[in-house]
Amino acid sequence: MTIAVYPGSFDPVTLGHLDIIERASKVVDHLIIGVLNNNSKTPLFSVEERVKMLKDVTAHFPNVEVQSFGGLLIEFAHRCNATVIIRGLRAITDFEYELQLAHSNRMLAPDVDTMFFTTNLRYAYVSSSMVKEVATFGGDFTKFVPEQITASMLEKYKDVRKQYLPTDKDSV
Ligand code: ADP
Repeated sequence: MTIAVYPGSFDPVTLGHLDIIERASKVVDHLIIGVLNNNSKTPLFSVEERVKMLKDVTAHFPNVEVQSFGGLLIEFAHRCNATVIIRGLRAITDFEYELQLAHSNRMLAPDVDTMFFTTNLRYAYVSSSMVKEVATFGGDFTKFVPEQITASMLEKYKDVRKQYLPTDKDSV
């Protein structure tokens, strides 16, 4: 039985992430999404909120589960008895970072290998930071995220957007 972990920040989960989850869940027997609980970054959504959103959007995949983790990814993979780490590649800009990460993880844990999924071209440009930028300025972010998270995004941006509403000073 092949167990894989798919780690990430998922702040928030996008249609690009969901596409990787769907495809990876067909290739491995059990897929565990690892939501990074990173104290050094200040995420828009708390780790509990991100786990809940991922559970909502993956509820229809019988072999997918969601957990949070902190610390070393390979330790999380070992705790899950996973032998595969899933990562996605959008463009050449992802490649250098992902390659370094995969090499470091293999040095630390030779029994765990990284499997890359190339992006679905429809979502090649979609990232969590782009979604947040669009939402901050009142754009239609719903094209880029699963329908189930729209309400959480709108709720979060009720407050965030107030800080960014254009003022007279913004025009020249
Ligand atoms: P991290 O902070 O670990 O990069 P992300 O949540 O941004 O976490 O991404 C998790 C993984 O999903 C990464 O491997 C990233 O390259 C991949 N990914 C993100 N968006 C897409 C997308 N649109 N298409 C394919 N892979 C993606």
